[in-house]
Amino acid sequence: MDTIKKKDIRALTREQLRDFFVNNEDKAFRGNQVYEWLWQKSAHSFNVMTNLSKETRDMLEANFVINHIKVDVMQRSTDGTIKNAVRLHDDLVVESVLIPTKTRTTACVSSQVGCSLDCRFCATSRLKRMRNLNPDEIYDQVVAIDNESRLYFNRPLSNIVFMGMGEPLMNYTNVLKAIDKITSSEGLGMSPKRITVSTSGVPKMIRKMADEGVKFNLAVSLHSAIDDIRTSIMPFNATFTLADLREALQYWYGKTKSRITYEYIVWNGINDTQKDVDALVQFCKFAPSKVNLIEYNPIDDGEFQQANDKAIDMYVNTLKRNNIVVTVRRSRGKDIDAACGQLANKQ
Ligand code: SAH
Repeated sequence: MDTIKKKDIRALTREQLRDFFVNNEDKAFRGNQVYEWLWQKSAHSFNVMTNLSKETRDMLEANFVINHIKVDVMQRSTDGTIKNAVRLHDDLVVESVLIPTKTRTTACVSSQVGCSLDCRFCATSRLKRMRNLNPDEIYDQVVAIDNESRLYFNRPLSNIVFMGMGEPLMNYTNVLKAIDKITSSEGLGMSPKRITVSTSGVPKMIRKMADEGVKFNLAVSLHSAIDDIRTSIMPFNATFTLADLREALQYWYGKTKSRITYEYIVWNGINDTQKDVDALVQFCKFAPSKVNLIEYNPIDDGEFQQANDKAIDMYVNTLKRNNIVVTVRRSRGKDIDAACGQLANKQ
């Protein structure tokens, strides 16, 4: 019986793999070969690594496992959106979504199982955070969606948004490691310009990202630029206040020169007045930014309702008058609970 718990080989860096071979009286370049199999070729077993001898493969088998995600259930929406229920090695499940448009295929990926934050309008927040995803689990979601994009739409994945389950900046290190792999020529070789990390706004982490000179895009789920209101719908705002967020975003722009996207839902009776939009306009002036007005996807309890078209028009007109770029986004994949804020492992 195998009583020794084998290590997940994908937790090793290229250098650690090279060292492993040197320590086992082999050549360092074997580490490179294995690394390529694991990341560029997404190998699921040591047996497929045909440029290694049988002894080497057996030796790897004796020491390591290759943990992989498994797409358990794939659902397709009438609008082409695909939702994957992804089973992890410890049987927990997260979801990722493929969103096709005429010109793009976007992957919406998860960063945590459940979520550590408590946004009252989001289905994922009801799951609580169970654990962070490892870099390889994030990477694998992207690979799975890239494969589906090639299969169903005859083109590779073009964009990635970290807007699935979880708060990416509460799993900062692993998210950055995953992005490194996604953008590296040893991984998928995608441009960081095609990647957007969406956060509820963790000021300390936004500063840290800025200091590290990251090249991907930043989106912030703002939803209100008035502290009391934001705290009532996103309670963690009591700790990470708008003033702190604002300063962190100014710091971000100063360092990266990368325009910030604010995601914003307008709800009936919550943030649908002229005062609300005026506060948003003020907030947008702190750093170059644009606004995505996103459609609300109800999560069953009826507490939140999307504002009417008149309120949305007021937002659009006021923002435009103040020279702020604004787009109104329609939801995708609602019929399969794949839209923003609906990811809660329902099938
Ligand atoms: N935690 C990150 C990423 C996950 S949420 C963040 O907060 O940005 C991705 C986006 O979906 C966020 O903008 C979030 O505010 C939005 N969202 C959450 N619940 C929603 C719902 N029910 N309808 C529409 N959008 C929702």
